[in-house]
Amino acid sequence: MGQNGFGLTGARKLEEAAQGSLTMAYDSEETFPEIREAVRKLCARFPGAYWRALDRDRAYPTEFVRALTEAGFLSVLIPEEYGGSGLGLAAAVAVLEEIHRSGCNGAACHAQMYTMGTVLRHGTPAQKEAYLPKVATGELRLQAFGVTEPDAGTDTTRISTFARKDGDKYVVNGRKLWISRAEHSDLMVLLCRTTPRDQARKPSDGMSVLLVDMKQAVGNGLTITPVRTMLNHATTELLFEDLEVPAENLVGEEGKGFKYILDGMNAERILIASECIGDARFFIDRASQYAKDRVVFGRPIGENQGIQFPLARAYVQMTSASLMVDKAAALFEAGQPCGTEANMAKLVASEASWFAADMALQTHGGFGFAEEYDIERKFRETRLYQVAPISTNLILSHVATHVLGQPKSF
Ligand SMILES: Cc1cc2nc3c(=O)[nH]c(=O)nc-3n(C[C@H](O)[C@H](O)[C@H](O)COP(=O)(O)OP(=O)(O)OC[C@H]3O[C@@H](n4cnc5c(N)ncnc54)[C@H](O)[C@@H]3O)c2cc1C
Repeated sequence: MGQNGFGLTGARKLEEAAQGSLTMAYDSEETFPEIREAVRKLCARFPGAYWRALDRDRAYPTEFVRALTEAGFLSVLIPEEYGGSGLGLAAAVAVLEEIHRSGCNGAACHAQMYTMGTVLRHGTPAQKEAYLPKVATGELRLQAFGVTEPDAGTDTTRISTFARKDGDKYVVNGRKLWISRAEHSDLMVLLCRTTPRDQARKPSDGMSVLLVDMKQAVGNGLTITPVRTMLNHATTELLFEDLEVPAENLVGEEGKGFKYILDGMNAERILIASECIGDARFFIDRASQYAKDRVVFGRPIGENQGIQFPLARAYVQMTSASLMVDKAAALFEAGQPCGTEANMAKLVASEASWFAADMALQTHGGFGFAEEYDIERKFRETRLYQVAPISTNLILSHVATHVLGQPKSF
């Protein structure tokens, strides 16, 4: 037990206090206040203790995902005609930001919101009818997205998982890595080569998107192996050995899959940026509360500018990054090109959340390392977003070449 009643048992008290101040600190101009309030209420049922227990076992937050599904929060992007609420990306931004601000983690299910976009934008009417209403109710989980491969890395045109057409089916062979939620998904959007790279007109041609029925596939050509990581993320490695996928599960045109996947990536980057904003707010809320309560040398540590300034800087960075996220979401909703803005939003938001994480850890001193305070867990969770779904260097390279006209370096 430290001074001032601080200690491991004090963490719960601080969690409640931070959530109390969180409610008061809400900006009245924030978007979707009713949605935010409802998400906050739902998240309050899943406090730090819930996430810590899962984290220890690297277990999936089934109850949390069920609650979000039943409340309709995961189907906000699905048009009403298919049973969703047909709201725009800004509503999804509000949902994920609140989840993360509450100390929860939307990564277990955020892809249920946007992966369906590939089917919505490029699927046949029959595919949309067959899948989207069930994705909207949660009867079907479409939250696995298989792109990355061990030998291709960020250079997606080098993927080698191959789908060979054989009559009315494709036969898939290859390997994918870091495919999250594969064990908790009924369907997966899978990117494969259907023409070898050296025979395609250009490297980004000759890739196709298949919808894989995961229950049918496992044990019949698909092997899923969980990969334990520094955070609880349900990520896996996939091995395809002559997996048969019906040809009717091809989404859009054969050979055009890369373009379809890129379309979906803008939504993904903006939504993950909103999770980073939520994480940054979480760290700022917690560190603020702690700085007011923790007394050392006879005064609250928050009285010291050495504590105040990083806290204030984290707030400034988070607020500016949040404006970039809003801008990217508005462009996306208006159907405007937003690749650069989505990338920039993801970059600044992931850096803001990481700065806030480091600040919160430092502000908490030794207690920041104790599981009970949830800082170390969120610290590990938010670090991911400078690497996935796209790493910072690749965003900088995009801005340098596409916006600033610099020569391409690769
Ligand atoms: C927990 C987790 C979950 C994930 N979930 C999914 C998922 O569900 N589906 C999926 O498809 N993928 C997923 N990924 C993969 C993720 O998108 C990739 O890890 C990420 O895009 C980076 O690719 P890589 O790991 O192959 O890095 P590499 O491409 O090997 O790059 C390694 C480092 O080198 C840098 N680098 C590479 N080339 C250049 C260059 N030309 N200039 C400057 N720097 C360069 C990169 O920025 C990076 O920092 C996940 C990853 C993780 C860790």
